Amino acid sequence: MGIVEEDVARVRSAVDFVAVASEHVALRRVGRQWVGLCPFHDEKTPSFAINPEQGLYYCFGCQAGGDAITFLRELEHLGFAEAVERLAGRAGIALRYDDAREGRDRQRRDRLADAVAEAVSWYHQRLLASPDGAAARAYLRSRGYTGELVRRFQLGWAPDEWDSLARHLRLPDDVLADSGLGFVNRRGRQQDDFRARVLFPIFDASGRPVAFGGRALPGAEGPKYKNSRESALYAKSRVLYALNWAKAEVARADEVIVCEGYTDVIGFFAAGVPRAVATCGTALADDHFRLLKNFARRIVLAYDADAAGQAAAERFYEWERHYDLDVAVAGLPAGADPGQLAERDPEALRRAVDEARPFLAFRLARVLDGADLRTGEGRARAAEAAVAVIARHPNELVRDQYLMEVADRCRADVDRLRALAGRPRAAAGVPVRPRPRRERDGPEVEALRLAVHRPQEVAEHLEEVLFAGEVHRAAFGALAGAPTLHEAIAAAPPEAAALLQRLAVEEPTAQAADVVSRVVREAAHRALADLDARNRAAPGPAAEVAWLKRELELLPDLGAVGRLVPWLVRWGQESA
Ligand code: ZN
Repeated sequence: MGIVEEDVARVRSAVDFVAVASEHVALRRVGRQWVGLCPFHDEKTPSFAINPEQGLYYCFGCQAGGDAITFLRELEHLGFAEAVERLAGRAGIALRYDDAREGRDRQRRDRLADAVAEAVSWYHQRLLASPDGAAARAYLRSRGYTGELVRRFQLGWAPDEWDSLARHLRLPDDVLADSGLGFVNRRGRQQDDFRARVLFPIFDASGRPVAFGGRALPGAEGPKYKNSRESALYAKSRVLYALNWAKAEVARADEVIVCEGYTDVIGFFAAGVPRAVATCGTALADDHFRLLKNFARRIVLAYDADAAGQAAAERFYEWERHYDLDVAVAGLPAGADPGQLAERDPEALRRAVDEARPFLAFRLARVLDGADLRTGEGRARAAEAAVAVIARHPNELVRDQYLMEVADRCRADVDRLRALAGRPRAAAGVPVRPRPRRERDGPEVEALRLAVHRPQEVAEHLEEVLFAGEVHRAAFGALAGAPTLHEAIAAAPPEAAALLQRLAVEEPTAQAADVVSRVVREAAHRALADLDARNRAAPGPAAEVAWLKRELELLPDLGAVGRLVPWLVRWGQESA
């Protein structure tokens, strides 16, 4: 079934897993490993580690583990074949299939992606060069768009015709429809989805074009914005416009700016702040936060002031807590969106981001700045309104900070305000997961860790009989019986596989000779206890016991190791 096994292995070894993971997680190098915040569970301190040579990851917090294929599958909810295909595409490997249908599905998605890519380039050329694109060019120039920006974002122009793209691409009806580029109309003719619109191609985080946002020219009929339909390539809730271009800077600055529109994002880039993204015709939702928290800890909303003021406060507080993010609001002048401000006063746009305030501070300022604080009645009303805003914040200490500020500005007694704000709230949200304590590993685990990382140093001495723990023994058996670590993990029973996953991202710290002599010592002691017990039941040759004790005393001498291991192997076979 599916992709030929040999090709899966080729993809595994060809793919740069650190590069793949970097698209979802901000990673930093620690020794030979890379570490970052786990994309599979919520955490503050990094527990997610990657072994770059083996292309394996393991999370010490939630025990998620695997390779590039499992990583993509779990993070993007892909099927096995789809994940392998995605990676094969990156690595430039042509896959072979031993099942015709899987191959057809893959070819299908490739076909749709190719169609969208062709459309991006055709629309882009129309904007750059065709006579009918003149009005669009003039509009973009009037908005301060340079040729460089237009090229950088591959903006396009959909002509004011009903089928110009369809005529150019000559796609089969189903490809046209399934790619979201067009449809077959009631008269059975192909028709474009976009007409007379400036197009903003939307790419997924890895840079593959998946859809378009279309803006009508000023004065045109119909809605100002129109987005591609959802398709096999495009799910609105999982895509953020411009994340493909912004992600490096977002991770570097540990901050992402979230806008409402494509032109806002481009405004930020033009103003020299290339870490802005936008939702594509949907409100900011849970999936977006889940995606963003892998790149940055601070989210700055660059909404126009009214939109930010009306945003659902509880949801933002919940997201802050749940994903351990800080949500701040850029204080844009009333009535200005970032796109316009970038054009008029880029310095003011940069300042608005620099001076972004926590969400609660922003909301409070709106209440107090609009209040009449000159009279006692005015101050009392303002204090009441301010307390209502503050009371919605889930953290009591945070609430208290703001209450003191309000008490000060409204000349109110802070204890009265506390009483007003202090109504009990239902504790909502996710309990904090305690980080599991990493207990000290015994010599068996140390030996396995060496067998994973530096097999040549321990291969000579390690034998299955040296491992008393059932899981340890299974893990060693899998390692010894498979040509690669990946195959050992695949072949091992679940607990042993999980252990190997973990060990793959832990660097051995102990010396091989030391670890080997320790496991040999423990195994010899087990054998000795066993012999003693047998001799007590039915006295046997004492010479063997004496020899074993002598050799044990010689440890960690390597000669003793060399004599004890074969003896232990024989003993293991005899007592089995
Ligand atoms: Zn985790």
